[in-house]
Amino acid sequence: MGQREHVRVAVIGSGFGGLGAAVRLRREGITDFVVLERAGSVGGTWRDNSYPGCACDVPSHLYSFSFAPNPDWPRTFSGQEHIRAYLERVADTFRLRSHIRLDHEVLMMRWDGDELRWEIETSKGTMTADVVVSATGPLSDPKTPEIPGLADFPGKVFHSSRWDHDYDLRGKRVAMIGTGASAIQIVPAIQPQAAKLTLFQRTPPWVLPRMDRKITGVERWLHRQLPFTGSARRGLLWGIRELQVSAFTKRPNELGLIESLAKANIAKSIKDPALRARLTPSYRIGCKRILLSSDYYPALAQPNVDIVASGLSEVRGSSVVAAGGTSQAGGSGGGTETEVDAIIFGTGFHVTDLPIAERVVGADGITLAESWKDGMQSLRGATAAGFPNWMTIIGANTGLGNSSMILMIESQLNYMADYMRQLTVLGGRAALAARPSAVGAWNRRVQERMERTVWKSGGCNSWYLDANGRNTTLWPGTTGEFRRETRRVDLTEYEVVRVLAKSAAAAESVDVAS
Ligand code: NAP
Repeated sequence: MGQREHVRVAVIGSGFGGLGAAVRLRREGITDFVVLERAGSVGGTWRDNSYPGCACDVPSHLYSFSFAPNPDWPRTFSGQEHIRAYLERVADTFRLRSHIRLDHEVLMMRWDGDELRWEIETSKGTMTADVVVSATGPLSDPKTPEIPGLADFPGKVFHSSRWDHDYDLRGKRVAMIGTGASAIQIVPAIQPQAAKLTLFQRTPPWVLPRMDRKITGVERWLHRQLPFTGSARRGLLWGIRELQVSAFTKRPNELGLIESLAKANIAKSIKDPALRARLTPSYRIGCKRILLSSDYYPALAQPNVDIVASGLSEVRGSSVVAAGGTSQAGGSGGGTETEVDAIIFGTGFHVTDLPIAERVVGADGITLAESWKDGMQSLRGATAAGFPNWMTIIGANTGLGNSSMILMIESQLNYMADYMRQLTVLGGRAALAARPSAVGAWNRRVQERMERTVWKSGGCNSWYLDANGRNTTLWPGTTGEFRRETRRVDLTEYEVVRVLAKSAAAAESVDVAS
């Protein structure tokens, strides 16, 4: 027992959230921490998603840390390799390498209520930590639907986030499953190589043009020499997106104008009226993530592309079989059978059923997944009832439909920093346990506001909603509002748990509100 390593904080994951947490801990003067990373390098979703065409649909000057501006972004919407390189540079610049433990997958975390610390079992051994900051991200565990016959498919199968770069798609007959943000970037990138591309579109997405361009040498020089120009650019990008929020959260009807633009975008490339109809969604724009692409529809208009307006229901030998009946997209597709060499799943991630939640056992001996069986719930997107000194970066209801997640992550880092300060002030061995009443009140407020949003009323089914139809993923307000809500830890929302004396067998709770 005594030999086990103990740290003040264990951060899990080294994507934007985990690296951001590490930078912030160091800035708070905390150096006794580790970053546990299951893979062999940092980067999170920007390491895992290396599919052809992968880029961020949020402008780079906003999709980066405010404390680590990058004057050298090459494009307005930079590609995956540049974002990944940016994160590697963050790890170097902020001297994080000595904290990062690569190839350390967290297998289980258990709260020890006597010692007030977390026991963490990793693939490389066990350790303990006073605080766990879980930054595993909602887009890290790929979701591949269970399709009858898939196991016997003789060709190649992979998920968009686990791209097999050794597999040559040239001259192959490829089935692409899904039409989400990943698929619409993949399709134009692989269409010129594939002999035949069959796209399974269960629900058509709304797609607007992506105004991507090279950032000129003059702009980059300006941002390097006069950093306030880069900040001004970021501020402008942020402000425009803040102004859009009320249409998503309070007045979805205002989004009708954007729908007209999206329809014009379809008409520009798709001349066949029947195909145009199949590609036009029947739900309000914004209900699912609005996608940005200027080459998706032109690719669909190519003669080697077939659009099956239906989901994939079965794999029969080397053929993919479309679901029968009427698809959401309307039109044909049901039951058709197509022989292919490869199947690529762009079918998203386990977002509302996070696998990491199965690996966290809290104060009552139950897992976070059990505690969240009726839906994810956290206090200010960070902490959970029954899980003392455990917090998430990008927790429940912290996602965004229209802006940069880095803004939300930085708000959560403020909260984490204040949490650590509060623990230091409390002194000794102490833990903060979110009060169920505070968690409940926060979530009621979030869910009440959710009723008016386009995500709830827009007439679609999306990964924003959980199995019970609750939106437990998105924040129903502006990023500015979330920043204000997470500036400080409100101690009345927590119970302070202490070990009063070294010999104390059990921890004692102190009601800070009294
Ligand atoms: P996704 O948005 O969850 O899309 C999954 C797609 O798979 C949907 O079109 C879904 O259809 C379809 N699907 C699921 N099961 C199917 C089946 N049996 N047959 C046919 N289709 C099926 O996943 P994603 O595209 O990977 O994107 C996830 C999130 O990652 C995005 O929303 C975004 O937040 C992020 N992302 C961001 C960027 C970026 O540029 N910043 C790029 C890629 C991804 P239904 O619509 O009918 O459910």
